[in-house]
Amino acid sequence: MSGRSPGINLRRSTPPLIFEGGSPGRSGFFWPEEEAKSQEKIPRNLLRDDIPGFPELGELEVLRHFTRLSHLNYSIESQFYPLGSCTMKYNPKVNEVVARFSGFSLLHPLAPPELIQGALELLYELEGVLAEIGGMDHVTLQPAAGAQGELTGLMIIRACLKERGNPRRKIIVPDTAHGTNPASSTLCGYEVVQIASNSRGMVEAAKVEEVMDEGVAALMLTNPNTLGIFEKNIQAVAEVVHNKGGLLYLDGANLNALMGIAKPGDMGVDVLHINLHKTFSTPHGGGGPGAGPVGIKSFLQDYLPVPRILKGDGSFELQEDFPKSVGRVRSFFGNFGILVRAYAYIISLGSDGLEEASRMALLNANYLRKKLEGTYHLAYPEPCMHESVFTDRLQQKQGVTTLDIAKRLLDYGFHPPTIYFPLVVSGALMIEPTETESRETLDAFANAMIAIAREVKENPDLVRSAPHTTPVGRLDEARAARKPVLRWEPQAGDSDQRSAFSSKLKAKS
Ligand SMILES: *Cc1c(COP(=O)(O)O)cnc(C)c1O
Repeated sequence: MSGRSPGINLRRSTPPLIFEGGSPGRSGFFWPEEEAKSQEKIPRNLLRDDIPGFPELGELEVLRHFTRLSHLNYSIESQFYPLGSCTMKYNPKVNEVVARFSGFSLLHPLAPPELIQGALELLYELEGVLAEIGGMDHVTLQPAAGAQGELTGLMIIRACLKERGNPRRKIIVPDTAHGTNPASSTLCGYEVVQIASNSRGMVEAAKVEEVMDEGVAALMLTNPNTLGIFEKNIQAVAEVVHNKGGLLYLDGANLNALMGIAKPGDMGVDVLHINLHKTFSTPHGGGGPGAGPVGIKSFLQDYLPVPRILKGDGSFELQEDFPKSVGRVRSFFGNFGILVRAYAYIISLGSDGLEEASRMALLNANYLRKKLEGTYHLAYPEPCMHESVFTDRLQQKQGVTTLDIAKRLLDYGFHPPTIYFPLVVSGALMIEPTETESRETLDAFANAMIAIAREVKENPDLVRSAPHTTPVGRLDEARAARKPVLRWEPQAGDSDQRSAFSSKLKAKS
């Protein structure tokens, strides 16, 4: 936990606005007198007598201001980030070093294959190791995100079924699926048929059988699913789908529980996408960048995106000549820098290291599950895989909800877990610690969660009104994202200086 004591209102320690500082005539730079006189060097139309409200500050004040602001950022390098389904693991710095090698970072994307043999070899090798990890026969690295991987995989399925005579109309998606699954299906022209998971959070083959017919192109399964539960019936489900000529798609966005231990390709999966920016170590968040390679079984290889990287006589070439291909899905080679990071990560860990990482991810998630069980209601009693889902059921009696608990965690210095997802769990709190956290960090987080549960009993208003220590409190989150307030307006209680500045601004404009 950070040194901040919970419950103390620190909002006044919010860094001042840059407009509040400085003094007229103060500057970080002084022109030599001669130069100042020859201002005609600057075109007249670019000269300003005065910019309303423009702060006049020294270099050090500016430096400190922006350094303070940078400390308001939250990152895996500063704090624990148990955001379920997102796998916010620590990304070893060696991956960054390798991605910055000038031979990679300065490559021109249009350089001819003869000049980028090293890069092509890396991509070729990465396809191979990902195929091995997933138990698939071939991989394309083009898709730039999980969602684009899904779309690419479904386009491959559609192309294959079309050639067999009928692309079919429907995709089956379980109710625990990530929202991108139905979205990708719809984008690919399919109708979504939702099926319910059972009381243990799993998909049952019998349920699939009820809706499986020759109009269904594929079933999209996530394993482990978004409840953090392993879909034990996957092989029986695959059989039901295959018997009616459909394909099994596996959303492998979170391969963090499986890599090095089990291969989706051995479970009857025909198409798989993997989020490199989750399991294979790329800093992510805030929308990108990412990479969502797709693995397929060999009967689908003619449909893979082009160009494909082929190994000839000791050299690597780009081959476009696959007439059944779904075409190109991303410019150049996809997000190349992320592919380099993933390769560095996989090679530096090796197969034993990958397995160890998965086992640690499982251990850490189950450790937190056990520590918090009883204090918070567990949505499903099953042992979990890489994440576990709690709810606010026990806290609701005091009128405290998942959102309040998440906000209160900010006061304790922790990023909240994923909340209100998966949708099948009311008031979900989805915790994914990942393998890179120490026992001390897990204990500190669990202690914070337990302390909050105690506060809920003793002083529920404190939790309901949280956060108390962040620069801003409860925002209308949808509006804050769509219409961010970037211009400061004075509030009751703001210092005179702010009000004075504000009236000056208004008078000028
Ligand atoms: C993150 C995630 C996705 C989507 O991946 P993006 O890279 O964000 O498009 C899909 N499915 C699951 C299960 C995920 O966790």
